[in-house]
Amino acid sequence: MGHTSRTLRPDAIVLPDGTLQRGAEVVIEGDIIRSIQPWSSTDRNERGAILSPAFVNAHSHLEYYDLKGKLEGLAYWDWIRELTRIKDTRHRDDVQRAAIRAALQNRATGVGAIGETSDWPVSGEAIRQAELQGRIFQEIITVREWDSPSKRIQTRSEWAKQQAEVSTLPVHLSPHATHTVSPSVLRQLASSGEPQSIHVAESRFENEAFQNGSGPIADLLASVDKDFRPTGTTALGYLGELGCLHPRTQIVHACSFSEEDVLLAGATGVTIAHCPRSNINLGCEIAPIAKLRKQGVKVGIGTDSAASSGEIDMFAEMRAARELSIERGQPLSFEDLWCMATREGAESLWLPRKWKIEIGANPRLMLVHGVETLEDAITSSPRVQLLQ
Ligand SMILES: [Zn+2]
Repeated sequence: MGHTSRTLRPDAIVLPDGTLQRGAEVVIEGDIIRSIQPWSSTDRNERGAILSPAFVNAHSHLEYYDLKGKLEGLAYWDWIRELTRIKDTRHRDDVQRAAIRAALQNRATGVGAIGETSDWPVSGEAIRQAELQGRIFQEIITVREWDSPSKRIQTRSEWAKQQAEVSTLPVHLSPHATHTVSPSVLRQLASSGEPQSIHVAESRFENEAFQNGSGPIADLLASVDKDFRPTGTTALGYLGELGCLHPRTQIVHACSFSEEDVLLAGATGVTIAHCPRSNINLGCEIAPIAKLRKQGVKVGIGTDSAASSGEIDMFAEMRAARELSIERGQPLSFEDLWCMATREGAESLWLPRKWKIEIGANPRLMLVHGVETLEDAITSSPRVQLLQ
């Protein structure tokens, strides 16, 4: 870390609550904001731009970028079955090349840090090339090895180690979803106390399976687990009973959350990744984001994979999140959306940097060009530029 000092004089800066302060300059030493004060000079290289913390993509799968546009028009269950069928037929080099393009596209849309869920050992290299920060969650799925998962866990542990070396980011073994990992493995992974990211309540089928033992997920569980019995709980309640909900658990999706799930999320301190375009395209229910935030839950915005959400674009995600929140009758403001895509996203992934423009903080920064308000920015997908 150098200690060179520089001064940025944009038209406006985004404050931690998502409001804009106009006419301010920011003095940075190394990575740390030392001062925020009125413009001290008319010499402004950042004229015409808003200065903001960089975006944080709270949930991503770089390794499905090659499948963009190839699985369109399918609802959740048909989509996930088709993805499962197609993903292992691909060649590793193609997947690697596409993942690198996806990581660079994240940068182009202003993403400085990412919560990457990896099922192949190639995300680490993509993240290294795009110089992204964040975390990698090395995904564990034990559907095919329900009663003897140790070999699979061992391979994934080795991949995790390799990816940590390549990317220099922390890599954590993580369960894929409530219904694709056996309860004993869910318990075992949670007991590490490390950060985890898990898909929960993406569809209503998880709740149907655990509550009543009905629906396609119940059928899947019955076929792999001779001891499967419905627990009478929601999918989130099931994880709670297994001891899997703690303040280092990121819940991805939360579409089919009940009122009790919202309270349970607040009480256990889990965080949420909201993936609005993916949820719309797969016909999922609308996640109760405003209610969760009211309970103090940190919610980040994620692009999920290009196989469900299309081209990587954080502005398009914010527009979709706003649309869904209005449809649910609990509208998120433009300030809310910007906070979720930046500071709150960083908090939802427990990033070590203080991701806000405040004296003493050290966010990655970006310039948003050619717009005067955050509403304009969210509406228009403007040009952005990462500064470090
Ligand atoms: Zn996902």
